[in-house]
Amino acid sequence: MAVPKRKTSKSKSASRKAQNTKKPVARASSCSQCGAPAQPHHACKSCGYYNGRQVLSVTTEE
Ligand SMILES: [Zn+2]
Repeated sequence: MAVPKRKTSKSKSASRKAQNTKKPVARASSCSQCGAPAQPHHACKSCGYYNGRQVLSVTTEE
């Protein structure tokens, strides 16, 4: 069985594990109804619209 010749340094293992970090969610899309930043293929959280109609009941009129 093959055995590593050298101990993996802290720097080497840390730089390898740095690739496993979770990247932030890209908000490239915006709501067509209110213009707020929204995730694509999701109902808008600020106005509740999706695909040109209201799908969520959002209490903003108070
Ligand atoms: Zn909206």
